[in-house]
Amino acid sequence: MKYDMVIIGGGPVGLSFARTLSGSDMRVLLVERSPQAVLASPAIDGRDIAMTHMSMDILERLGVLNRIPDQDISPIRAASVSNGTSSYCLNIDSKDEDVSALGHLIPNYLLRQALYEEVIARGSTEILYETSVTSISSTDKSSFVSLSTGEVVEANLVVAADSRFSDTRRKQGISTSMLDFGRVVIVSRMEHEKSHQQIAHECFLYGRTLAVLPLDGNLSSIVVTVSADQSEELQAMSAEDFSVRVRAWFDNRLGDMKLIGERYSYPLVAVHANQFVKPRYALLGDAAVGMHPVTAHGFNLGLRGQETLYQEIISARKRSVDIGSLSVLKAYETKHMRVTKPLYHGTNKIVGLFTNESIPAKMARNALLRFSNNFPPIKHLIANKLTEKEADSGIGFPTFL
Ligand SMILES: Cc1cc2nc3c(=O)[nH]c(=O)nc-3n(C[C@H](O)[C@H](O)[C@H](O)COP(=O)(O)OP(=O)(O)OC[C@H]3O[C@@H](n4cnc5c(N)ncnc54)[C@H](O)[C@@H]3O)c2cc1C
Repeated sequence: MKYDMVIIGGGPVGLSFARTLSGSDMRVLLVERSPQAVLASPAIDGRDIAMTHMSMDILERLGVLNRIPDQDISPIRAASVSNGTSSYCLNIDSKDEDVSALGHLIPNYLLRQALYEEVIARGSTEILYETSVTSISSTDKSSFVSLSTGEVVEANLVVAADSRFSDTRRKQGISTSMLDFGRVVIVSRMEHEKSHQQIAHECFLYGRTLAVLPLDGNLSSIVVTVSADQSEELQAMSAEDFSVRVRAWFDNRLGDMKLIGERYSYPLVAVHANQFVKPRYALLGDAAVGMHPVTAHGFNLGLRGQETLYQEIISARKRSVDIGSLSVLKAYETKHMRVTKPLYHGTNKIVGLFTNESIPAKMARNALLRFSNNFPPIKHLIANKLTEKEADSGIGFPTFL
């Protein structure tokens, strides 16, 4: 039995792509190594994903937003970026940008659950659970996907959304630019005494980074980035001590703070594949580009990439062109790389500058924030990166969203 497409990975991007394809008459198989229960009821993973306007439009179109309770979609009305111990902030306000919110925060587990429910409701994607793709081989006419069950399935095109550490990418001989920051991000939620007024804060403190992102009511998502050894200490401390520590780092601005639930940690490794396609094979999501979360572009880029690939596939089919041919896939690669490369390298440069503790770097950090605050075109460019409301404007900047 031949499929038009095999998608590897039922993460948020693989599921988004499956849902996008469900309106077509293509025969699609999704292969995911986790059990069905994990996709149907994903566990809380601490990530609150900042979504741009463009991503919200895509999720709305895919019917995903309707499946997420209103109180779990939190608007960000303004964003504030500070450096070290200085009280000076770069402020970006949705009012100045003529939008009701700069972006929206949605818990990752709810996004995954809603995407899965939508795919199942459409009923057109076949799914294999608890199955891994072990290898892929191609001929002029087809790809052959070997599964951990011993089966081999045939497809016109294989789309790998199998994470930033994609095993199939490596087996296809695709090299990557990979950056291990030697740091760990710890995410958690905290209740606090005072209102956050829907303002998101990114504090580039010396030795660590603290983001405080506004959720429903007096609740915030707390994102702490530290060195690996510091992270062990922070994970080991009691909930009370951790809460006191974060409250102090945030200068008591939200009053008393209390940890709610677990702390989740993720090592920080960014990846950009040097090519996104080979004949009958395309990378999507984190497998194509896995971002440092400080600019919060990871899933946003994944959503955008799957739209771009879909458009190229639909256009090829209209012209009766083979969807696995290199010319079709190269068109996707060119368009998507134009978006991902500047963001990837721009984000890594920002991380480099804002984690550099030398005196010149600290001065440059201050100067950059002041310049951005006082030069309206730059400020608008940053705001546009946050919202993705206008057509793409190039490089990313020190915005955590
Ligand atoms: C702390 C943190 C905060 C973040 N915040 C934001 C944010 O604010 N905004 C934003 O846009 N992004 C954010 N991101 C990034 C976002 O979470 C990722 O970009 C997104 O999860 C990538 O989805 P994916 O489907 O490409 O990959 P993954 O989520 O990694 O899913 C890959 C899937 O493939 C499966 N798989 C792997 N190999 C195989 C195989 N061989 N066979 C079968 N199945 C396989 C895995 O089981 C998994 O289900 C954040 C990330 C972190 C860590």
